Amino acid sequence: MTRDDCAALDTADPLAEHRSAFALADGVIYLDGNSLGALPRATPARVREVIEREWGEGLIRSWNAARWIEAPRRVGGLIARLIGALPHEVICADSTSINVFKALAAALKLQAARPRVRARERRVVLSERTNFPTDLYIAQGLLALLGDRYELKLVDFDEVAEAIDNTVAVVLVTHVNYQTGAMHDMAAVTRRARDAGALMIWDLAHSAGAVPVSLNDCGADFAVGCGYKYLNGGPGAPAFAFVAERHLNAIAGDPFAQPLSGWLGHRAPFAFDPAYAPASGIDRFAVGTPSIVALAALEVGVQTVLAAGIDALRAKSVALTDLFVELVESRCAGFGLTLASPRTSADRGSQVCFAHEHAWPVMQALIANPARAVIGDFRAPDILRFGFAPLYVRYVDVWDAVEQLRDVLATRAWDRPEFKQPRTVT
Ligand SMILES: *Cc1c(COP(=O)(O)O)cnc(C)c1O
Repeated sequence: MTRDDCAALDTADPLAEHRSAFALADGVIYLDGNSLGALPRATPARVREVIEREWGEGLIRSWNAARWIEAPRRVGGLIARLIGALPHEVICADSTSINVFKALAAALKLQAARPRVRARERRVVLSERTNFPTDLYIAQGLLALLGDRYELKLVDFDEVAEAIDNTVAVVLVTHVNYQTGAMHDMAAVTRRARDAGALMIWDLAHSAGAVPVSLNDCGADFAVGCGYKYLNGGPGAPAFAFVAERHLNAIAGDPFAQPLSGWLGHRAPFAFDPAYAPASGIDRFAVGTPSIVALAALEVGVQTVLAAGIDALRAKSVALTDLFVELVESRCAGFGLTLASPRTSADRGSQVCFAHEHAWPVMQALIANPARAVIGDFRAPDILRFGFAPLYVRYVDVWDAVEQLRDVLATRAWDRPEFKQPRTVT
């Protein structure tokens, strides 16, 4: 494999043209689209239109005239196509953390209401020790609020399926692990949960827009996900929540099944009734007024993914990550890197991680490279994380990133005090 071979792969790449839909500087190899997706070129104009025309001129009339009020459902409906859901099962709202709270609360309440002899003994919320911490923190807070009727049980990534038994009320796991990129078999884990009578919540933060997901084919109960990673919605973009239609029907009679009962989840927000009565369907997973500017940016970001097609994106993502593993192992051998992601592409998402003793300064040196910045990120304690957003990462970028990595390691360019300074955001 040579750089020319990589250039030839780019020439033959059916997704190559999609890169021009993004504003990416020449001097940057961006391998962090799994943490913050790149800026679509269409976003600034759309956001300007929302601000200047819809807000500036339309003022409050735009809630109806520009259909602002429909934006959470409209964008949710687009995301539904990427995750194997029906349009009326997905809403864009709030952050992923808050959607974890809503989904877990609703799942626990559904479980408690089931006419099962042993329902009282289902006291376990099962998750992973290496799950993204916000999911665990939210679960801890909710369980404390519920008076410790439930216990959060944490197991290793590989132990999740086995640990699902009839003591488990809800399983809360992330499809693609943020730290290693390891991907669960969604169909198998969900089946196991259903067979044991547990409800399944999937966090799709590192899946939506990168990996085909079939929530309904797998029989998933709830899901949440993130708008600013592979969906390119911009920093702090709204997140999404999925609730299977059967559960939306099942909770219809319980006004507080989703306990963040804000006015926009009300059946008739503009009736201003003092008593809460939930909207039917997924609308009750809305809470307060949506951020319209942010939703407009997210809508453009989701369109960039839909335009490419999720199956083509996955095929390229597998090729990019396989190439990266192969090149790092062949060209950076002897520099203390250990693959921390699954070797088999079927078992991982769109990122590749290597452990290294000096991972933090190595990543700082890559980012600070004056010729071409290679932007990945660091995850404690020793992980170099590289994300491959197939919409805009090229095969030559993979080649060049590996050469820069080898250069940083071979010359010990990382071994300088400025690269060892801690930063707030890693
Ligand atoms: C990125 C990420 C989140 C983000 O949550 P926010 O509420 O948007 O900060 C949640 N869960 C997982 C698994 C993530 O990777």
